[in-house]
Amino acid sequence: MGINQKKSAQLGMSYGKASGILRKSILFWLIQELGWDTCCKCDKLIETVDELSIEHIEPWLDSDDPIALFFRLNNIGFSHVCCNRQHRTTKKIGPPGTQWCWACKQFKDVSVFPKQTSRHRWSDECRECHTIRKRKLRAKGRTAADRRRNVDSAE
Ligand SMILES: [Zn+2]
Ligand SMILES: [Zn+2]
Repeated sequence: MGINQKKSAQLGMSYGKASGILRKSILFWLIQELGWDTCCKCDKLIETVDELSIEHIEPWLDSDDPIALFFRLNNIGFSHVCCNRQHRTTKKIGPPGTQWCWACKQFKDVSVFPKQTSRHRWSDECRECHTIRKRKLRAKGRTAADRRRNVDSAE
């Protein structure tokens, strides 16, 4: 029996899967210690590791620079699995000329959503919710820019 098979046999699951669970638990423990365990989408506490989802703040897929956006650490946010954009497979369709805001959970006129540019092809929260969320994050020193500053000063 190989060493990995032996480990898997004693763990009752594949060694790779067990390592993944452990790594995610460590990550969750650290973000709790740092006070980063607030969902970047709904602003509520992420209470268990099972709820934790690691999300790209700016979508990397089909962006101008997918590799940079995928790996850039200040493009990473923590959210609830159910709040994560990638898990929203169904697009909510409302009355014509309206769009669903995931933050305030209602259909609103398309004009209250940020402009769709090539970089941000679609937005899932209205301008009002976006401003509120940004303000809260800024108050906590939690914006991507703040984190970048922290990283810079640590170097
Ligand atoms: Zn959430
Ligand atoms: Zn809203």
